[in-house]
Amino acid sequence: MKWRGRKRSSHIEDRRGQRRGGGGFGGGGGMPRLRMPRSGGARGGGLGIVGLIILLVVGMALGVDPSQLLNGTLSTGPAPRQAPSSGPVATDDMTKFVGVVVQETEDLWTEVFSQNGLTYDPPTVVIFSGQTRSGGCGVANASTGPFYCPGDRKVYIDLDFYETLRRRFGAPGDFAQAYVLAHEIGHHVQQLTGVLPEFNAARPRLSTEEANAWSVKVELQADCYAGIWAAFAGQENLLERGDIDEALNAASQIGDDSLQKQAQGFAVPKTFTHGTSAQRKRWFEKGYSSANVGACDTFSAARL
Ligand SMILES: [Zn+2]
Repeated sequence: MKWRGRKRSSHIEDRRGQRRGGGGFGGGGGMPRLRMPRSGGARGGGLGIVGLIILLVVGMALGVDPSQLLNGTLSTGPAPRQAPSSGPVATDDMTKFVGVVVQETEDLWTEVFSQNGLTYDPPTVVIFSGQTRSGGCGVANASTGPFYCPGDRKVYIDLDFYETLRRRFGAPGDFAQAYVLAHEIGHHVQQLTGVLPEFNAARPRLSTEEANAWSVKVELQADCYAGIWAAFAGQENLLERGDIDEALNAASQIGDDSLQKQAQGFAVPKTFTHGTSAQRKRWFEKGYSSANVGACDTFSAARL
């Protein structure tokens, strides 16, 4: 991805250098199966990109009809083919890289919202190291992976996760890293369109299985939105050869079936919360090839 020298978002909160977690959280970033709700007060959960079960969050009803967003289109062409894809972004450059990706998501979603007569209010992206407290979704730490917290409308990311993505999940490359961010920002878009608040409001009356099925639709829509962002990045001439493959590979590597087979040797579909590898790739691709939020309606799709 050709990101150097691009404008960076001002909505980045760098919490590195603050107190580190008291043991047990260091290093490479793990892969939790489940994150328990906090008791008392606002119970919250993050919407992590990998296998994190979405927990109860009382979303804010914004009165925005999701269907209002279904008409935005972006014209886009195929990815340019001139330069080889770069590797993962070095740690020193990571904050800048995140800033550029987030800025590009802001440009995209500001445009799409505006096309629909709406205003895009961007989330803050918190970069942390060790652990940090989120607003309503408990403590974020290296083992949770990146997630979006509807309670404070912030995306949390420990940059060590990118090393995990590369080494443990076999998803190297800067565009794999960008995809992860674009997916989490996609959850913020869902918060603004009412998709997330509706899900969170419904959760108490859903069985686990029903909630999982609903979660998969939410997650695949966020993958589709990440694909739209990739199309936008192409339009902005940021793509290098191999970038889209990096994102597709990442989407595939963190599919529920792949993760479960890796962890326990077999997959249990009714426990899926994010979708299979094939589904995640398909919905990213749908967003990328259509560049149209209307193509991301996982809720009325006959087939996921
Ligand atoms: Zn997600």
